[in-house]
Amino acid sequence: MQNAFDLQNKLAIVTGANTGIGQGIALSLAQAGASIVAVGRSSMDETRELISPTKVPFRAVAADLSNLAPIEEILDAAEGLSGRVDILVNNAGIIRRADAIDFTESDWDDVMNLNLKTTFFLSQAAARRMLKDGKGGKIINIASLLSFQGGIRVPSYTASKSGVAGLTKLLANEWAAKGINVNAIAPGYIVTNNTEALREDAKRSAEILSRIPAGRWGHAEDIGGAAVFLASSAANYIHGTVLPVDGGWLAR
Ligand code: NAD
Repeated sequence: MQNAFDLQNKLAIVTGANTGIGQGIALSLAQAGASIVAVGRSSMDETRELISPTKVPFRAVAADLSNLAPIEEILDAAEGLSGRVDILVNNAGIIRRADAIDFTESDWDDVMNLNLKTTFFLSQAAARRMLKDGKGGKIINIASLLSFQGGIRVPSYTASKSGVAGLTKLLANEWAAKGINVNAIAPGYIVTNNTEALREDAKRSAEILSRIPAGRWGHAEDIGGAAVFLASSAANYIHGTVLPVDGGWLAR
């Protein structure tokens, strides 16, 4: 019987794949058989090493996604490795923390540019190529609990991730009938660089943990399984969903 979660002969682009959730997703997709184009602005050596036992084709692309300039180069690298782009994971993202009353324009623009603007234009460019041969593809955006909730002291992050949820639905509406599935994963509290400040704040950290029904923070590999599912043919009829992978946080 065919394995619906098999990603052999698929090519996945994963942004921000050098650390954290992006690295976990790239590894899970590779373990399911996908070739990987790993995009990031710092060294991809650790990710390359982690993925090498899977023996899938792998290419690292150095790119700063705070602007749109690298987009075509990334897609060309993917097509160069496997002929087409099947899966795009928009994972690269940043967060800035300050009281809303003091929040600066650069903390607004930096977060919105990477988390929302690049997510849209990279998706647009990937979709144009996915549609060229009519085979479609899968786009997976990395949303957040702050796609559903307000958060505190992270105004641009909340705006960007709420925007990612809306964009996921809009793109799904436009592209579902063309064979592109656009969905998002909303990670809960995951142990990565992104949450280091929170985990170092003993009081906040204890408050967070006490609200997670699973009784633990998540790990990057917890997100990988959801990414494999949404990237696979098992998810062919799933469009525009924002899937929480949060240890039950939103159920509370
Ligand atoms: P992380 O800081 O470990 O990873 C962020 C990734 O984005 C890194 O690979 C980094 O190199 C890349 N990146 C940042 N700026 C970039 C730029 N200008 N150009 C290219 N790449 C850039 O954090 P993470 O937690 O793994 O975050 C990954 C995604 O998951 C983000 O979108 C984040 O908002 C989201 N997220 C994380 C959590 C969590 O608890 N860690 C929760 C919800 C959502």
